[in-house]
Amino acid sequence: MKKDDINISDSEIIVMKVIWSKGFATSREVIETITKATNWKPTTIKTMLTRLVEKNALSVEKQGNKNYYYPISSQNLTYESFFDDAVYKVCNKSVGDMIVYLLNSNELSSNDLNNIKIALENKNANDNLKCNCIEKFGVCNCKDCSKN
Ligand SMILES: [Zn+2]
Ligand SMILES: [Zn+2]
Repeated sequence: MKKDDINISDSEIIVMKVIWSKGFATSREVIETITKATNWKPTTIKTMLTRLVEKNALSVEKQGNKNYYYPISSQNLTYESFFDDAVYKVCNKSVGDMIVYLLNSNELSSNDLNNIKIALENKNANDNLKCNCIEKFGVCNCKDCSKN
């Protein structure tokens, strides 16, 4: 499992979205954009910018008295690590249920559905899928699990 990937929190992703959409931004621009939509304090946003630099998700360049923030991680890679985090929280044997749930509980365009159909046609089954709860969580409470 890829648990060493950049771990960006739900609030930090909003800061990343602002910078992705602008290409780069000063802390003032980020604060102006986010405080329009949330009640976050400017100091909180500044702390998040610092943390995102420490996490290597952003780089910072000082010009005069302004800090310019640039994204290091792309939106696609960050989303993928979000999805990996979600999958990490469930057993190998529950990932299929998770995908079916997502499919049934979300609206999808015909373009989305086409991509899903193609992915499904090209996907090979693994009928020896093993529970990985013990190695991930130290316990297993899967029903019908041979490790029980
Ligand atoms: Zn399991
Ligand atoms: Zn198990």
